[in-house]
Amino acid sequence: MKIISNPIELKNYLKTIDKTIGFIPTMGALHEGHLSLIKDAKKNNEFTIVSIFVNPTQFNADEDLDKYPRRDEADKKICKLAGIDILFFPNVNDIYSKDEVSIASPNIRGYVLEGFTRPSHFNGVLTVVNKLLNIVNPSRAYFGKKDAQQLNLISLMVKQLFMNVEIVAVNTVRDLDGLALSSRNIYLSKEERKKALNIPGSLNLASNLVKNGELNSLKIIDKMRESLKDLEIFYIEILDREFNQIKNIKLKNTIILVEVKIGNTRLLDNIWL
Ligand code: AMP
Repeated sequence: MKIISNPIELKNYLKTIDKTIGFIPTMGALHEGHLSLIKDAKKNNEFTIVSIFVNPTQFNADEDLDKYPRRDEADKKICKLAGIDILFFPNVNDIYSKDEVSIASPNIRGYVLEGFTRPSHFNGVLTVVNKLLNIVNPSRAYFGKKDAQQLNLISLMVKQLFMNVEIVAVNTVRDLDGLALSSRNIYLSKEERKKALNIPGSLNLASNLVKNGELNSLKIIDKMRESLKDLEIFYIEILDREFNQIKNIKLKNTIILVEVKIGNTRLLDNIWL
């Protein structure tokens, strides 16, 4: 495994490679969720690149960028064991300069749900993903369904900017107790983690309601709200795969999304029906 931090060096190196490239952008503190993206990329491409970059522009001013978990040495070992070809590990100065061309997220879809409480978050996400895709120029890039709004906006960007990359959506990996794996889970105390189990609990409840024939979005949301009543709920939404609100569940075209705050930690989860 080669570790490269300079974008130009990586671009030059990739000129010598004539293979399909699978690319997995991450912010590090790697877990089984990231590994699932890596496995998928390895299976379907001849060459695999992971990036680790804690992107400052996607953190809002009141969020603690410095506290974001960093486990550089462990991450390098995990990537090596996972058998990737290149780990792209840039510094902030390798990616950003002082006076930047900016990419903005769409006016509506970028400012609802997670974008409502984190107004410039998706500008930062799209900016960095655009840069990373331009550097790596992969055949396919892998993103988790757990961050469904991010996945939706990246897919929109790739389509609207006519970019040459296939975006692959990968299922959410969960802990044995059902909690979706996230680098942020380490912020949770034992007590908070217990509370967090209400999140997958509420999604299971919704899924069971649908299985029993309840298709009305408002009724499902009401029951979910009730089951999450001890938590600070940012939103519970039922959307189609294009992220439009729907009054009734449409099977094979619905995402139920939840975001809550427990202590100081925001947790996202969703199910695709
Ligand atoms: P992050 O390092 O949190 O920015 O995540 C990097 C990528 O891994 C994103 O595409 C996430 O959606 C994805 N990811 C994070 N957690 C999970 C999970 N539990 N299951 C599947 N993919 C995940």
